[in-house]
Amino acid sequence: MAIRRLLIANRGEIALRIHRAAHEMGIETIAVHSTADADAMHVRLADHAVCIGPPAARDSYLNIAAIISAAEITQADAIHPGYGFLSENAKFAEIVEAHGITWIGPKPEHIRTMGDKVEAKRTAGALGLPLVPGSDGAVSDFDEARKIAEEIGYPVIIKAASGGGGRGMKVCTSSDQLETLMQQAGSEAKAAFGDATVYIEKYLGNPRHIEFQVFGDGRDKAIHLGERDCSLQRRHQKVLEEAPSPVIDAEERARMGGIVAKAMADMGYRGAGTIEFLWEDGKFYFIEMNTRLQVEHPVTEAITGVDLVREQIRIADGLPLSVAQEDIEFKGHAIECRINAEDPWTFAPSPGEVTGYHAAGGMHVRVDSGLYAGYKIPPYYDSMIAKLIVYGRTREGCIMRLKRALEEMVITGPKTSIPLHQALLKEPDFLSGDYSIKWLEEWLARRE
Ligand code: ADP
Repeated sequence: MAIRRLLIANRGEIALRIHRAAHEMGIETIAVHSTADADAMHVRLADHAVCIGPPAARDSYLNIAAIISAAEITQADAIHPGYGFLSENAKFAEIVEAHGITWIGPKPEHIRTMGDKVEAKRTAGALGLPLVPGSDGAVSDFDEARKIAEEIGYPVIIKAASGGGGRGMKVCTSSDQLETLMQQAGSEAKAAFGDATVYIEKYLGNPRHIEFQVFGDGRDKAIHLGERDCSLQRRHQKVLEEAPSPVIDAEERARMGGIVAKAMADMGYRGAGTIEFLWEDGKFYFIEMNTRLQVEHPVTEAITGVDLVREQIRIADGLPLSVAQEDIEFKGHAIECRINAEDPWTFAPSPGEVTGYHAAGGMHVRVDSGLYAGYKIPPYYDSMIAKLIVYGRTREGCIMRLKRALEEMVITGPKTSIPLHQALLKEPDFLSGDYSIKWLEEWLARRE
């Protein structure tokens, strides 16, 4: 292995997750952190630490010059970007590579293509993935938009090509609203992302969100590691994820997995990726591809036994995929609860000092978190403070164990979303696996 010193360009639980994989491979780690994160667990555990700026992310975790300088002075030979921050910034990936540093991620051109949703959809279509019916690329002409909407039928959704995080989307139910909503979507996208380009697709009424984990060797081989069901969302933010999906059987997994793996092999995709679909009435519709590690990757690790971060590092180092498709077995069931420092019912952020902390344990229970008693959760970043991942041989067994593990988790000081998860696990619709992307918000509205 050529990689000996890895710089982790991230914070929080994912920085710790990457540190763990690196140390298990005998690789030294370098933490870069803002002044607000000087006491973070991953900074303490890393072999070296460099402060790269003040709390605001744009001055630290998004500060390319500061991160590259830190890599140079510590003689890092690789950079792992985690998720969020610079992980899907093609320019950053190019700069890293131009400095002779190994980028633990996909090829910059693939990050760029998939970051533009119009380009991503065109590429996905050309690779044979099923698409949501809609405009063939960007639309700017209202008459043309009206024609397309009539053809696919209302409701339609107007989406920003450069959108992300659920922003820049408008649902349109009739032709007299189309022009206004297109203008609104365009100007909102322009303000948020600097690009007013929009496109149109059919609005699916009650789909599930099902995504496939893929890995490519950057040459001509790729595999899939099955799907994750991430339908439980609030404001397009995932709350709880599970693998496998309650509605996908082994045959369908193999069929769809085969299609996505072939697409990645044809593309020459390198490293980890996630292909997101909406799923309705037994059919998959591509919505986007994420060219990075996902928050919810541990549920896939739990049911396949593959360490996805280790695999990313190996591939970046030029090694072949460590497993062949036929060696991957999907065993049992895994669920992840995202634990946020926020009020469980109003969702108001609740940063501050963690006065007491005890992580759940026992068989098949994993907690990915940088928390410790006395840690002060800074108010500047994402509110997710821990992930609880539980495995069981069956979905029922997994849910029983998850209930038990949630009882054991102790986080005092800030409010957390643990009570929300506990309430969710009592719901008959969740227990039967009968939920769509609309379900959680409707359930929350009913409780008010
Ligand atoms: P973003 O990059 O902003 O997350 P996505 O394309 O992934 O955008 O869509 C985010 C969410 O918006 C999806 O998970 C789904 O809930 C909803 N959505 C997107 N496209 C459609 C569609 N065609 N029909 C219904 N809902 C959609």
